[in-house]
Amino acid sequence: MTKTHDKDEVQMIGNTQDRRTPDLVREEIRVGEVLLHICCGPCAEWPIASLKQEGFSLTAYFYNPNIHPLFEHRRRLNGAKTVCSLQDVPFFSDDSCEPERWIAMSEKRSPEEEGRCAMCYRIRMDRVAAEAKARGIPMFTTSLLVSPYQSHEKLIEVCEEAALRYDVKFLYRDFRPGFREGQKMAREHGVYRQKYCGCILSLEESDFREKIYRDFEGSIGATTTVL
Ligand code: SF4
Repeated sequence: MTKTHDKDEVQMIGNTQDRRTPDLVREEIRVGEVLLHICCGPCAEWPIASLKQEGFSLTAYFYNPNIHPLFEHRRRLNGAKTVCSLQDVPFFSDDSCEPERWIAMSEKRSPEEEGRCAMCYRIRMDRVAAEAKARGIPMFTTSLLVSPYQSHEKLIEVCEEAALRYDVKFLYRDFRPGFREGQKMAREHGVYRQKYCGCILSLEESDFREKIYRDFEGSIGATTTVL
């Protein structure tokens, strides 16, 4: 399904065909229980604070099998747990770490197909929407929406499709204005802040690649293979 997010667009959210504009639909969701997907501790700080301030009841879910290597995955998982504990939000996780899936899928993709980030969003948001449905939580959203480095519009599209598929609502918020404040909160809380998006390809492409590898070696021992 391709969406343009034009003002006059007819949009499906949840299982309801809705002829209001997407922005209006999003604004009207103001209270209730939300499953918040958390990609990492620093990105969770601001969305948790702002959704709680709005009055939402949150449950946090960490599911990011894209993160490579396992050491880094566990470090981000721990950061997410710390932030939820500090902000008093119930937390659960799926600890899967599946870098080989990302490598295989990226290699298979033809130039006509969607990029790997869209695929990465789909894998995670599908699971989050399914979890929300299974747990009877009517809405979900994601901390990925705070990041100026993610494809915001693609995320919206993927989340809306997942919401339709699992008959739950996607709670849209543009958390990006709070990105710097969230990073500041993470620094004050002593939460680990990463230097690359997560998958092995983003690690290899990072300008900080050498520094990241040195950090791995310093953290887990020079003799340990991290790739
Ligand atoms: S760069 Fe980030 S969003 Fe894109 S595939 Fe890698 S981990 Fe996923």
